[in-house]
Amino acid sequence: MEIIKGIGVSPGVVICPAVVLDAEDLVIPRRTIDPAGVETETSRLNDAFAKARSDLQTLRNDLTASHSKDIASIFDFHIGLLNDKSLLNQITTEIRHHHTSAEYAVSLAMRKLAGTFLQMKDSYLADRVKDIYDIEKRVLRNLIGTQHESLAHLDHDVVVIAHDLLPSQTAALDKKHVRGFACDVGGRTSHTAIVARAMGIPAVVGLGSITSAVSGGDTVIIDGTRGMVIVNPDEDQLKEHKEYERRHVRLEAELASIAHLPAQTLDGHNVSLLANIEFPSEIDDALARGAMGIGLYRTEFLYMASETEPTEQDHYQAYIDAVRRLKGRPLVIRTLDLGADKYVHGKGPVKEANPFLGDRSIRMCLHNLPMFKNQLRAILRASIEGDVRIMFPMITTVMELRQAKMVLNDVMEELEDEGVGFNKEIPVGMMVEVPSAALMANHFAREVNFFSIGTNDLIQYTLAVDRTNEKVAGLFTPAHPAVLALIRDVIRAANRNGIPVSVCGEMAGEPLYTLLLLGLGLNIFSMNGPDIPEVKKIIRSITTEQARQVARKVLSFDSERQVMHYLREETRKILPEVF
Ligand code: PEP
Ligand code: MG
Repeated sequence: MEIIKGIGVSPGVVICPAVVLDAEDLVIPRRTIDPAGVETETSRLNDAFAKARSDLQTLRNDLTASHSKDIASIFDFHIGLLNDKSLLNQITTEIRHHHTSAEYAVSLAMRKLAGTFLQMKDSYLADRVKDIYDIEKRVLRNLIGTQHESLAHLDHDVVVIAHDLLPSQTAALDKKHVRGFACDVGGRTSHTAIVARAMGIPAVVGLGSITSAVSGGDTVIIDGTRGMVIVNPDEDQLKEHKEYERRHVRLEAELASIAHLPAQTLDGHNVSLLANIEFPSEIDDALARGAMGIGLYRTEFLYMASETEPTEQDHYQAYIDAVRRLKGRPLVIRTLDLGADKYVHGKGPVKEANPFLGDRSIRMCLHNLPMFKNQLRAILRASIEGDVRIMFPMITTVMELRQAKMVLNDVMEELEDEGVGFNKEIPVGMMVEVPSAALMANHFAREVNFFSIGTNDLIQYTLAVDRTNEKVAGLFTPAHPAVLALIRDVIRAANRNGIPVSVCGEMAGEPLYTLLLLGLGLNIFSMNGPDIPEVKKIIRSITTEQARQVARKVLSFDSERQVMHYLREETRKILPEVF
């Protein structure tokens, strides 16, 4: 029995046998072969490629059937590369001429290819490097013969243990049988964690060395609520956690029953609870959990799931799909927020020394106008069919906002010239997720129709803590008085200028902060669908005056520990099952 502590990123408890995914890199067993073995080696190579192709094709087909084409198309790039004859020829030539092992030749060729992609000017292509590592691992696994436990063909419930989960691996998790996951690395607001919460399965990340502590088939308890994993638990722990598991299931059922009750405080104050999504296919589930619309559509996932740069029509199809599912409810489409951990996180060299401070998000869009305009055209075209709103991410300066709005105006003029319909009054908002924007909220409020506070990045940039780095995860907290002061001021600036303001970072879905945010005057919360019922339950159990008192008290504290301790005590009184 071993207990490993990490960061609980998606609540709940699950007890299951483990499937362990490979750690960082596979070990290449040997570099050279006997010249007489060249034929055997090339035939091993061909078999490994063929198996990788057919596994991916099967995975793609299964995903198309069970999820959506959006998600399944993640594998188009992989399959295309495996079908590339020149790549296979290059590896074969290496084996024939230099008598290298197939494993070594594959690794050489893939690393070279990755290097070439990294040099590319087109940032989209450069960022496919992660997929190349993914393909390399797949082929190497076939060659080395490491038993690769496929997540696509499970016939029993499992928990997944991995060093890190690549976006393609996370998207491919079979929701029916994958009941939870645990990773060596990652932080609470890493995008893998966000996807876990969207799927509603318990997850713990930042565990350090969970992959070396667990073997396939071990019984594992993943406790996403308390942020720990127990490997091969004893009888007492099993009994205790089975009870937690039952309690969590009961709580979920109870919370589901309030999905369609209004998010209204005891004194009759209505609050808007919206959902965050990565794909339009998540909307139905979010609505079933009580979402009143979508407060954050992370459109960059369209890029991450696609083989080539999405066309205007690809964007349009996604947006119109979302609009139609929402039937008149609001849809806040955030323009591309690529860069940083979306594309370039994880293995392999990165192009920028500090990608979170680099050419990401709105900066990347303003450097790549054709890409940006394609997206804006599609958003505008979809706007005539529903309540569509545009939101620019990571605005740091007033000039940047004005530039983005100018591009939007250009696109509107183009559409008008072409006689294409769109909503000329489309609301235009911005994310407040950089301290400079928060500090200047009063100025910005005069130039946009709404604000949405992105606490994930706001915390990262205010406290100088990489949101994806488990080593500093202890420092990453919304409870820091400096972060709270910024949030308070942004809400005040919005209210003073008469524009709506929401919080769409993970903080909005954490029940610990519901009382505080409401007390600070927040009326719109946007969160992962599964978080909605708990937050609603708190809202329905309090008065606005109670919340205001809590906020006043919290603002008098000077340490995050005091803040958290106090909020835990206050929230426990309302939702003792959770705290
Ligand atoms: C945020 O930064 O809080 C946010 C909502 O955006 P993302 O998590 O996609 O960076
Ligand atoms: Mg952000």
